[in-house]
Amino acid sequence: AKFVYLFNEGRADMRSLLGGKGANLAEMTNIGLPVPPGMTITTEACREYYRLERKLPDGLEAEVRANLAAVETAVGKKFGDTDNPLLVSVRSGAVFSMPGMMDTILNLGLNEETTQGLAANTNNLRFAYDAYRRFIQMFSDVVLEIPKHSFEHLLTNQKTAQGVAFDQELTPESLRSLIDNYKKLVLKETGRPFPENPLEQLFMAVEAVFRSWNNDRAIIYRNLNKIDHELGTAVNIQSMVFGNMGNDCGTGVAFTRNPSTGERVLYGEYLTNAQGEDVVAGIRTPQPIAKLQAEMPIIFDQFSQTAQTLEKHYRNMQDIEFTIEKGKLYMLQTRNGKRTAQAAIKIAHDMFTEGLIDKKAAILMVEPGQLDQLLHRQIDSSASLSILAKGLPASPGAASGLVVFSADDAERLSKTGQKIMLVRMETTPDDIHGIIAAQGILTSRGGMTSHAAVVARGMGKPCVCGCESIKVDYHKKQFTVDQTIIKEGDHISIDGATGRVILGDVPMKDPELSPEYLAVLGWADELRQLDVRANADTPEDALKAREFGATGIGLTRTEHMFMAQDRLPYVQQMILAETLEERQQALGHLLPMQEGDFYGILKAMDGYPVCIRLLDPPLHEFLPGMEELLIETAVLSTRGDNPPLLAQKEVLLKQVRKLHEFNPMLGHRGCRLGITYPEVYEMQIQAIFNACARLSREGYTVLPEVEIPLTLSKAEMDFFKERIDRIAGEVMKQAGTTFHYTSGTMIELPRAALLADELAESAEFFSFGTNDLTQTCLGFSRDDAEGKFLPHYLDAKILPENPFAVLDRKGVGKLMQLAVEGGRRTRPGMLIGICGEHGGDPSSIEFCHQIGLDFVSCSPYRVPIARLAAAQAAI
Ligand code: ADP
Ligand code: MG
Ligand code: MG
Repeated sequence: AKFVYLFNEGRADMRSLLGGKGANLAEMTNIGLPVPPGMTITTEACREYYRLERKLPDGLEAEVRANLAAVETAVGKKFGDTDNPLLVSVRSGAVFSMPGMMDTILNLGLNEETTQGLAANTNNLRFAYDAYRRFIQMFSDVVLEIPKHSFEHLLTNQKTAQGVAFDQELTPESLRSLIDNYKKLVLKETGRPFPENPLEQLFMAVEAVFRSWNNDRAIIYRNLNKIDHELGTAVNIQSMVFGNMGNDCGTGVAFTRNPSTGERVLYGEYLTNAQGEDVVAGIRTPQPIAKLQAEMPIIFDQFSQTAQTLEKHYRNMQDIEFTIEKGKLYMLQTRNGKRTAQAAIKIAHDMFTEGLIDKKAAILMVEPGQLDQLLHRQIDSSASLSILAKGLPASPGAASGLVVFSADDAERLSKTGQKIMLVRMETTPDDIHGIIAAQGILTSRGGMTSHAAVVARGMGKPCVCGCESIKVDYHKKQFTVDQTIIKEGDHISIDGATGRVILGDVPMKDPELSPEYLAVLGWADELRQLDVRANADTPEDALKAREFGATGIGLTRTEHMFMAQDRLPYVQQMILAETLEERQQALGHLLPMQEGDFYGILKAMDGYPVCIRLLDPPLHEFLPGMEELLIETAVLSTRGDNPPLLAQKEVLLKQVRKLHEFNPMLGHRGCRLGITYPEVYEMQIQAIFNACARLSREGYTVLPEVEIPLTLSKAEMDFFKERIDRIAGEVMKQAGTTFHYTSGTMIELPRAALLADELAESAEFFSFGTNDLTQTCLGFSRDDAEGKFLPHYLDAKILPENPFAVLDRKGVGKLMQLAVEGGRRTRPGMLIGICGEHGGDPSSIEFCHQIGLDFVSCSPYRVPIARLAAAQAAI
């Protein structure tokens, strides 16, 4: 196999072989942009390396040497040459971008002799020594795995010895002795001298990049982002250009549009006289890119044009890394830029308006899950806030939490259920678990492209960075702003959209949706085939759902209505009733209340279908817990001062004992309740139709769908259908009005799915209750599984995903397919939807589209996500 490609041999669509960085370096090379020449070792070589149990594949070294000769010719320098040495960077580049996850080595090829060559060639000894000491530092960290801080320590000592504050102020002599100290450290740590042979350095570095694919940070990142661990990484070997040779040099990163807001302006940062990671490391706070226009106008123009070329070429917002060497611009990386939901929407909208992309591409450009960010609450602008400080608005959204200063503390405290605000001077990839655990991130150093900012935006977490007016003291576990001291455990809030840091908790409010958002979701509605409904139990939820674009309710649960304070006594009376009369008396109280509930919801959904599920949970859920009652009765009987209350509690306890089940999930619930207590379901049916009659007389259009939960046979459905039709007839006759209604069932049991053709003789619609269907298909109790064994199943890759979050297409999906086929065989065109949690999950929605469902139903806040996901499924 060919393991190595020169940049001019590759293309953007060779991403899976060359990795993202390599494929794009090749593409930029081939469209004529100034890319320092280089080569890419394929991901296939990396996979082969692991197949060989961590050995470089045969022939790889020879191939690299041959391609190196081509690079030498292109650049006019020679690798390892003492007069005119070629230096290279060794850069990892996975198929999916993994920012900051694997380290790059710069200036490789330097040793005692080539360093002298570099000094003579550039006429700059200081620069050459600085390059060498950086190389030793990076190489030792990444390849030799000697902790970074050992080198930082020596560097600090050297600065102290020379009496200066900044690295750039070190003299050549100082750097020389620093290099000697670095080398001594390497010898001491590894027992071997620092490698002098450039080719040996090169292959050690290549291997280290391959190894880094499986370092802890990389594995955590892949787990978090669901990236396949088998893909492997490519390695890019690229001739070096130098941004640190003086004030006509620099390095920077820029987005072609603002990644926070989507505004169409170049957006980024640079540092003059700096190399590589200096910008993202958050060590010096960089200059905004606009300043480059004043400082180096020609370069700025060239860069702006290149940015536009790249945007047109990729038809997407680009995230670009560049370096300026002695007044000449070089492109070092481009990729589709990560962006907030707000920016994603605006960019998709604007690029369509600019004619750069069509509607379908615009829809595909926004990740549905991201919309969540827009729909959540933001700081109420009318609130009076105690503003502590202002930093850079790095990732929008508001968050509050208790201040902690380390990732470990963040993780530990969040596990106790606390909301955490992670405050750091800067973050590094080692802090990733703390960032995951925190509600928001605040840093005192670093720009908009610092590690904290990039990672937070990717996760949709609020972040304020570069907040220089706060002084963080890790040792004392506190930060100060002027005279104010904020200690660990104090409450603060941040507003990632404005950069404000606020003392204490803050009032939040619903977000305002932009015209661009409305337009893009409108396009999604044009393109999708699935209807999107919402799960809503109250008129307020129903209105919220309509506001977010739902065109119906896919699930109204009636049990929540039973839990209300004013109802519970009657519900309990109904459960405790010894006779039918007693039960009917209790139901008599509940009837008008339920009627009111349904009236409100059906009115809010005027003209849209509303699917109402009859009582579902086991009755013991409406009674106090057994333990609680045991304690109460014990206390009351020892005190002996309230015999009537004790008697009452004892009756209750007896009933709770009677209702106790060993496995309530498979117990007396769902339509089993309706079979044993038909009068309960009859009351609910009556309430629904009474509400319908009132509303239709008032001129509303009601479209109720009466839904029976947990059926397993046609006989059950017949039992209820007879009652539904009878009661509907009576109500219409009495009220002298008519309305349209249907009756159907949830599909939650494998038996129901298997016998769907029979069920459909009686049921007019199906709705998949995939929460229960997943439980009953897999034989998992959700609440137990998620806390106990499911994580092990996921770790061991026995299941690819949590089946309660992402629909198990293979198993549960197969049952659904059977039910769709069976149902529509009996009843062509039968209405079928889904109302489990999966109805709001983009991947599950795609599957629902594929098997031809009519609607998905999800929580009101996920309705926009479902609209977009349904459109993407249809494209
Ligand atoms: P990451 O994936 O962490 O961004 P990169 O491989 O992109 O790592 O390297 C980080 C930075 O190192 C680049 O943005 C660039 O500034 C610098 N760099 C990498 N290769 C070169 C090179 N050949 N010449 C000059 N600078 C380089
Ligand atoms: Mg890096
Ligand atoms: Mg990079």
